[in-house]
Amino acid sequence: MYRFAPSPTGDMHIGNLRVALFNFICAKKNNQKFIIRIEDTDTQRNIQGKDQEILEVLNLFGIKYDEVYYQSNNLKFHYQMAMQLLMDQKAFSCFCSEDVLNQKKESAKKNSTAYMYDDACLNLSDSEVLENEKPFVIRIKRPTKDLSFTDIIKGDMKFSAKSIDSFVLLRANKTPTYNFACAVDDMLHDISIVIRGEDHLSNTPKQKLIRKYLKYNKEIIYAHLPIILNSQGKKMSKRDDASSVKWLLNEGFLPSAITNYLILIGNKTPTEVFTLDEAIEWFDLKNISKSPAKFDLDRLRHLNREHIKKSDPLELAKLIGYSSKDLGQLAKIYTEEASTINEIKSKIDKIFSSKNSKEFERELNILRDIISDMPYFESFDEFKSYLIDKSSLKGKKFFKPLRVLLTGVQSGPNLSDIYPHIKNYLGEIIR
Ligand code: GLU
Repeated sequence: MYRFAPSPTGDMHIGNLRVALFNFICAKKNNQKFIIRIEDTDTQRNIQGKDQEILEVLNLFGIKYDEVYYQSNNLKFHYQMAMQLLMDQKAFSCFCSEDVLNQKKESAKKNSTAYMYDDACLNLSDSEVLENEKPFVIRIKRPTKDLSFTDIIKGDMKFSAKSIDSFVLLRANKTPTYNFACAVDDMLHDISIVIRGEDHLSNTPKQKLIRKYLKYNKEIIYAHLPIILNSQGKKMSKRDDASSVKWLLNEGFLPSAITNYLILIGNKTPTEVFTLDEAIEWFDLKNISKSPAKFDLDRLRHLNREHIKKSDPLELAKLIGYSSKDLGQLAKIYTEEASTINEIKSKIDKIFSSKNSKEFERELNILRDIISDMPYFESFDEFKSYLIDKSSLKGKKFFKPLRVLLTGVQSGPNLSDIYPHIKNYLGEIIR
């Protein structure tokens, strides 16, 4: 069983989408189930509607799943398992107030040491616990032995027992922390492999410890994907527009191109341009590089052009707001100077805009008059000869105005390439 576990706390980041894609691909390849778990237990940070948005993005990218679970539906199990850990003396109640903890965090900061909980409540007697009326959290007992695991991408990972403190499982309001809910749910959902971002690497020993204390024996395998860096070599953050899937879609990048790009970076692939279905054929997590992948918008633009060229002309026409196959073909020609659906749309919209030009006002009028009255020509050469003949315009005084009249601008792809796709719409175009 594979899972993708997004938090409904913000817009989908390309890193999240990459994680979802890799999980989907591996589940498909290995004929296993794939579930979505919306991690909604941090109610303070949840944003209403983000869960649906995430599912819509997955659908748009062709990422199919078997089931959607909400972590909040498992709250009673989180609670029960915390109680079990208390009874087994693998966890303890902690009454330290926020103020006291904050003071300790401050002094750790002053001494430039990493803050770790000091186990102040570890050895409270039963009566000290039972008679205490202050709010309390439940903490796991920190590990006594070093923890290690082998990550499919990162290799052998070791965490010294000293690096992990007695961390919180249940908050004072009895909601689970991320690590606890995640560890329990991966167990309840019978997950066999977790593919996620490397920002979670240090959570893995904690989650393994929780399941060990719960006496769960199944070994869950981990693969932590390297982070994606921006062009300055810094981690792609919300401040980088291109980190947002929504932004990329709004700019007019095709889901198939974004998919291609996210599978391509930091990977060894047999070809540069491919579809998701093709990637399912050859994908192997072992080919993913250990080091961070670098985001390069120009490369994505290149892939977008390639996917536009390969797309169905009618579908493409619809994306730019037209309903004819011809205009989808025309859109493909414009990939020579435009990379996104939006950029191409603005070129095609110009073709259908009304044209004025101070410089060529006279010529435009002459050409307009002739075209509006002329017979239909299948080929551009015939069309051109007829116009030259009737207008007596020559050289630049012919070609420039003709281009302006047909495309709304003075430069662009060859008119002979454009003509076959616009010849049926000349009446609308020459307005
Ligand atoms: N909700 C976590 C996130 O969005 C999931 C981490 C995980 O896959 O365990 O980062």
